[in-house]
Amino acid sequence: MQITLLKGKTALVTGSTSGIGLGIAKALAEQGANIVLNGFGDVEGPRAEIAALGVKVAYHGADMSKPTEIADMMAYAAAQFGQVDILVNNAGIQHVARIEDFPTEQWDAIIAINLSSAFHATRLALPAMQKANGGKGWGRIINVASAHGLVASAEKSAYVASKHAIVGLTKVTALENATSGVTCNAICPGWVLTPLVQKQVDARAAAGGISNEAATAQLLGEKEPSLQFTTPAELGALAVFFCSPAGNNVRGVAWNMDGGWTAQ
Ligand code: NAD
Repeated sequence: MQITLLKGKTALVTGSTSGIGLGIAKALAEQGANIVLNGFGDVEGPRAEIAALGVKVAYHGADMSKPTEIADMMAYAAAQFGQVDILVNNAGIQHVARIEDFPTEQWDAIIAINLSSAFHATRLALPAMQKANGGKGWGRIINVASAHGLVASAEKSAYVASKHAIVGLTKVTALENATSGVTCNAICPGWVLTPLVQKQVDARAAAGGISNEAATAQLLGEKEPSLQFTTPAELGALAVFFCSPAGNNVRGVAWNMDGGWTAQ
């Protein structure tokens, strides 16, 4: 029997052509939600994967560093499906360098894509969510933060700053809507083997003259006691929980799924 917890709902997942965003989009689609995809690179593959789950799929290629394109995307989603019920702010990038060497344009891009984009999408999604369900409100805003929203690592100043800040934005969004059916929570993954992390494995392998396997083991061993990657499907299941009736009063949490990283 197909489970359709979210049938009739629309979920917009930013940065969903790859990695964690695609995993979350698939998990929400498996529960019957129509999906608005966003992101760069191959679109047709992800679109087909989601359509195969029997839901409607739309795509908007907004560059999440550009507020006007974010506004276009939100208007497009509402025009396609009536409104956005579930917003997953997931798009994100990384750059690794010490502060004194950190390119200022990388700082600006990371803050724009990892943090400000969530503010813009959220401010544009909230009014319809607040009016839903006969004025009582219904909506789910899920911010993909990181273990780096809770603790820091060297050489990731912009990323850590953006992820700590999005945890703060999550709490404010939750508080401002606490008496309504609109909730906001953050997901804080540890290492997930996506293109974003593979780049860091590659850099480590090149710097140390070691194999991909050795670099992967080093990367996990430094931070993640489980020595295992978290998967996009596991993160998708957490997003489904936030969207379920059991999540009705879960508000403003930053939920780590990080193999014990932040328990240390
Ligand atoms: P990824 O590189 O696989 O996917 C990133 C997605 O964002 C892609 O779809 C890409 O096209 C999109 N994107 C990038 N810049 C964009 C822009 N300007 N406008 C629109 N879309 C854009 O990365 P991922 O690992 O799946 O990361 C997704 C989120 O998860 C990020 O916010 C990241 O910080 C967070 N995260 C990742 C990990 C990890 O270990 N991979 C851990 C914790 C948190």
